[in-house]
Parts: sequence; C-alpha cells; structure tokens
Amino acid sequence: MTLANGRPYLAIPGPSVTPDRVLAAMHRAAPNIYEGALPDMVETLWPDLRALAGTTGAVAAYIANGHGTWEAANANLFSRGDMALVLATGTFGHGWAATARGAGIDVQVLDFGKAPADMGQVEAALRADTGRRIKAVLTTQVDTASTVKTDIPALRAALDAAGHPALLVVDCIASLGCDEYRMDDWGVDVTVSASQKGLMVPPGMGFVWFNEKARAATAASDLRTPYWNWLSRADAGEFWQLWNGTAPTHHLFGLRESLTMILHEEGLARVWARHEALARAVWAAFDAWGAGNPAIAMNVADPAYRARAVTAARFGAPHATRLRGWTEKYAGVTLGVGLGMATPEDPDCTGFLRVAHMGHVNAHMTLGALAVMEAGMIALNIPHGAGGLAAAAGVVAGAA
Ligand SMILES: *Cc1c(COP(=O)(O)O)cnc(C)c1O
Repeated sequence: MTLANGRPYLAIPGPSVTPDRVLAAMHRAAPNIYEGALPDMVETLWPDLRALAGTTGAVAAYIANGHGTWEAANANLFSRGDMALVLATGTFGHGWAATARGAGIDVQVLDFGKAPADMGQVEAALRADTGRRIKAVLTTQVDTASTVKTDIPALRAALDAAGHPALLVVDCIASLGCDEYRMDDWGVDVTVSASQKGLMVPPGMGFVWFNEKARAATAASDLRTPYWNWLSRADAGEFWQLWNGTAPTHHLFGLRESLTMILHEEGLARVWARHEALARAVWAAFDAWGAGNPAIAMNVADPAYRARAVTAARFGAPHATRLRGWTEKYAGVTLGVGLGMATPEDPDCTGFLRVAHMGHVNAHMTLGALAVMEAGMIALNIPHGAGGLAAAAGVVAGAA
C-alpha cells in the first residue's frame, strides 16, 4: 500500500521547495512593465540582493538558469584565448569549465575528483603562471553533485600568497541563502547564483554580482555580446534595460517575497544556522546508519568541507536507486539522484543519492525525510546501523 498521498516533498538540490507565499505572490494578473507596482517594487530588490551576497558591488539579473550565469561571467570577463583556472570538486566544476571552453576560453582544470580542493595545489598553479595568463579563477562554493564545499577565504589566501592578480569568481548557485557567504569580506570579485535553490523561487532567474576590479576587467573582454553584457543591466537607466527586454514579471514578485522571508523575517544569520542544524541532523543519521553498514557513507568525510544545503552519500549499488524509488512511491519523498558519481563498477550511479536540506525546509521535513529513508531501508532489507533517527532528533533538540 502506498502512503504517498498528502503533500509531496521534493528533497532534491534544486529546484527546491517553493514556499506557498512565494507562489501566492506570483499568482496575479500580468503587471504593467512600463510603470506602477512592478518597476516600483523592483527598486527594492537590489539592496536586498546585495545584502544576500554580502557585497556593496554591482548586481545584474538575467532571465536564465544557473548555466546562463556561468555564461554571463564567461562573456563579461574573458576574451577569446584568455585563460581560466577552474577548480573542479565535482560535476558542476567540470560543467563550468566546459562552458568556458566552448566560449573559446583556454581552460586549465585542477581536478580534485569528488574531494575538497587542495589550496597548496591551487597556489602552485598560480605561481607557475609566471606570464600571468590566468585571468580568473572559477570555483563553486558548493558542488551540488559531490556536495563538497570549497573554503573560499582559503582560496583568496592562496591567490594572495601567490601574488596573482586573477579575479576570484564563485558559483553560489547551490549555496546562496544556505551556506555562510560574504563576498566582500572574503575578497571575491564575482558571484553567480540562480533563483531555484536557496532563494526558493522557481527556476528562471540568474544573478551576478561584481566589484570594481571585475568591472575594470569587463572593459577589455571581447566575448561579451549585447544580451549578456552585465554593465548595461547593472547600470540600467530604463526599466527594460535591466532585463534587455521584457522583465521576468512574476518571478520578480516571487523573489520579493523570498527575500523578505530570508532577510527581513528570519534573518540571514538564522537562515544559515537553520541550514547548519538540519545538515548536522542528516549527517548524524548517516553516521549511525554507516556504523552498521560500511557501504553507507557520506561522500565528504570532513564536516568542514560538507555543504549545508545538500548531502551526497553512497549506499552501495543498486541500493540508492532502490531506496529513492521506494521513498517516492510509498512515502511521497523524492530524493536526489547520484550525479557524477559513476564508477566502472556502478556506471549508472545506482549506489549514490543526495538528500537536499536547502531553502524552505524545517526540522519536520528533514526528520521526516530521514524517517522515510529508514523505513525504506527496512522495507528493502538494506542493512544499516541503529539509532540514526534518534541521533538526528538529538541534533534538532540541541539546536532548537
Ligand atoms: C544547479 C547548479 C548549477 C546549474 O544551474 P541550472 O539552473 O541547472 O543551470 C550550477 N552550479 C551549481 C553549483 C548548481 O548547484
């Protein structure tokens, strides 16, 4: 018998759960894009978007998904033949590298597999670039496939130690509004993100933030096309110039609501703390399950390098895929697929899954997802250690 009726829970790392309030804010007649409520409201978004990223720099928005923001950064920062140094800690780092390569940028990838970046290697690569060809270092803060978190202040320190002038460009698509992030304090030059993860708005909007150093680099870039030009958007005089055409009308009302929830109601520090606590609850359950079955293990061993937005774990092929099928069919919880975790023994990634704890998520959702996973392990005879749910509940109790 299926117990899946009731409200389904999409616990995948994007799109995340859209709050009813965001949906309600979007549910309205098409607004006038020339004057009135929409342009007036949009003025209020920019200071909040800056606060979210922790910058006083410029911000530009696009009708685009995360891939579009990669392209925006590529187009504005580079000329054909310039070099980018990409730190890859999973599928998304390689994805950005491929996008840059496809645009005609000369890409050097430092491939750390599915493990945290080694800043010693980064510093060495920068020191080796005596001709100063590397124009920018591109990295994810969280690689959503491996769920590895990159230590951005440590990366800044590596650039500084090498005395290298490259721009520091960070993909916060999975992490903004989940993991602590301070663009200006951490010396980041460009940040990119998108609407459908920590920002809790449906997919369809992308954002870039850039400082004066990045703005100066923009002037020399020859990959820029009129649509992707971030200067005309960030410095727009007319409302249409913000979007290079029609505004993403309804998304903007949804975004207003989500920024109010994050910044003006809960507060960014408490949003980060909630993600931290829910992440630790998930980790506690995995630790207990894994204690009884070594096949179960989180991908990232050191908690310091784990995302607070999503956790990737191995279950032993094909149990992750079986478990995901069970939780969705019998309990209404959709878990994330294993992404980029294929091995010769497990070419279809049936041994990995991801549990998102990203955005509009509270303790009952995360504890519920974990309880449903344990029910699935029991139903499917997947061996696991005892006490996972009690451990997760203990973390929630301690944090509340
Ligand atoms: C989701 C994600 C992307 C891709 O975003 P799309 O909206 O799917 O194009 C890129 N980078 C990271 C870190 C992501 O989590």
